[in-house]
Amino acid sequence: MRWQNPFTTEGKWYKANLHTHTTTSDGWADPPQTAELYRRAGYHILALTDHWATNDVGGLSRRDFLVISGLEYHPLCPDKPEVNPHHLVAINVPHGFELTARQRRDANAAIRAVKAAGGESLLAHPLWCGHRYDHYSYLKGYVALEIYNATCDKIARSDGQTDWCYLLDAGRVVGGVAVDDTHGPVDFFAGWTWFKLDRLTVPAVMEALRSGCYFSSTGPRIHDFRVHPPADTDTPRGTVEVRCSPAEFIYLSAQTYHGARRKAESGKAIRKFTHPVGKDWAYVRAIVVDHRGRRAWTNPIFL
Ligand SMILES: [Zn+2]
Ligand SMILES: [Zn+2]
Repeated sequence: MRWQNPFTTEGKWYKANLHTHTTTSDGWADPPQTAELYRRAGYHILALTDHWATNDVGGLSRRDFLVISGLEYHPLCPDKPEVNPHHLVAINVPHGFELTARQRRDANAAIRAVKAAGGESLLAHPLWCGHRYDHYSYLKGYVALEIYNATCDKIARSDGQTDWCYLLDAGRVVGGVAVDDTHGPVDFFAGWTWFKLDRLTVPAVMEALRSGCYFSSTGPRIHDFRVHPPADTDTPRGTVEVRCSPAEFIYLSAQTYHGARRKAESGKAIRKFTHPVGKDWAYVRAIVVDHRGRRAWTNPIFL
């Protein structure tokens, strides 16, 4: 699957929460109530992802609102019995989907089983699990990492920034999603993912999830992010452009110590940052921070 830039892809934007618990496991509201709350809040896509349990999502979708069946699964972190199990979120597995005992012990076999059932996996909140890079770096085939998880924010462990840097610097092609991981009322509507789709269907969402055709946010909106071709000899690799809602900081993050930052002057806001692509940059992604500290993250453009 070719990696896509949603800002240069045709389609419309659709707002999603990809990690949601209901009363089927340890959530606060039942599946119909949860779906209705998200729909009324302006979301277009909701994945129900209870611990080890799918839901019958038939009848929950509406015009312009798609409910997708999923689950959160917790395979063992092998050879490390002292470590918490992995938390992975399966998107688009059929109601009744279950993992075998072997797959529960072998996370890569579980990820393959999810794929074989038509789904994809997200790596959920490694920081909350206490997982370092060497605990999860052997995992293969998941399509995105949680860059932000609202329920983990209650103990200041919401952030996937460091993990995403490690993965991308190691050459992994993996996106970043912001999610609520909805359990109680305070988790609702805190982190979301904007998909660029040509139509609101489960296959279109899955294709966008696999190809990185989305960005994530806890507040700011990103309007554009692209690399323009070289215009002169000062920019031999082209120029990166970011446009966004009013922000205090706009960062460009490449591997290790590469990147750039623009900061608003005191009392002002910035809405744009352009910067030449560095000569050694392997990829670039943008992070926008508004005056309340809320963030938005593009997926990387691989250079
Ligand atoms: Zn979890
Ligand atoms: Zn969860």
